[in-house]
Amino acid sequence: MEAAAKGESGASDELGARLKAYEGRAASVTGRGKDLVNEPMIRHWCEAMGDTDPAYTGPDAIAPPTMLQAWTMGGLSGHTGRAGAHDELFDLLDEAGCTSVVATDCEQEYLRPLRLGDEVGFDTVIESVSDRKTTKLGTGYFVTTRTDVRVGQDLVGTHRFRILKYAPARQKQEPTGTRARRLRPVVNRDNAGFWEGVERHQLLIQRCTDCGTLRHPWLPGCNACGGLDWDTVEASGEGTVYSYVVMHHPPFPAFDPPYAVGLIELAEGVRIVSNVVGVPYDKVRIGLPVRLEFRRYDEPDADDEGGPLVLPVFRVLEDRAGGVG
Ligand code: ZN
Repeated sequence: MEAAAKGESGASDELGARLKAYEGRAASVTGRGKDLVNEPMIRHWCEAMGDTDPAYTGPDAIAPPTMLQAWTMGGLSGHTGRAGAHDELFDLLDEAGCTSVVATDCEQEYLRPLRLGDEVGFDTVIESVSDRKTTKLGTGYFVTTRTDVRVGQDLVGTHRFRILKYAPARQKQEPTGTRARRLRPVVNRDNAGFWEGVERHQLLIQRCTDCGTLRHPWLPGCNACGGLDWDTVEASGEGTVYSYVVMHHPPFPAFDPPYAVGLIELAEGVRIVSNVVGVPYDKVRIGLPVRLEFRRYDEPDADDEGGPLVLPVFRVLEDRAGGVG
């Protein structure tokens, strides 16, 4: 078993042999791009990438090569008629405990540029399944799919996508006596005032001095008017749970799941993400009234560097929440 987990599995890796049988099988039936290669999609891509190359504009425009996959994507509605080999392979891995997945890399090859009006077709095969591998994340298999992109009969490019599907490794126990510290916020010139306020137990909201609009999180400019000048108002600390999630996984150092992360709507109207405290995680509800308090984390030991971390959190008001807690 130990040898198998290190990838020297040989014949003992029965699962691996079953997975290998999927190599070369179609992961999807031949697909059609939902749109012809077109100027608006190219323009949006170039704007998002900040690419101003003149080759991508005008009547003789070509599509940026890295857009290759974009022409094959199914969007929210997806493509119809997908073959099941890919899903079957994933089901096998899930059943074997390889329930986690992480994308590892992608390779593209470009054989000729795509031009305005090209009608893209594609098919995807499961190109390879690796031997069982052990990584820092856990033990599993790398699965590579290859999508061949065609215009008519011409192969114009290929897109390889590799994922690791794995059984997560057990978290290493911290050595006794050491305690994971919370990640520190990244303080920069745009948000320093906020964190200075938190240090003083003040929750400061930015206010545009041109139009008066409040904003959070802190930004260099006003979303409403573009104004760059601002001052602050101190939050009263009253608010309600506007929305929330309960974190179960993945575990982070210094956090003890499950715990509730709330999107708190402050009485002033802006919203802030923070922990909801004072009730069990499964009692947090939308609309609960909460009040700001400041908590100190990571009180320094003698050999610790730096001070504790002060964070604004929101306590559920039990008297108004009706029997929680
Ligand atoms: Zn403004």
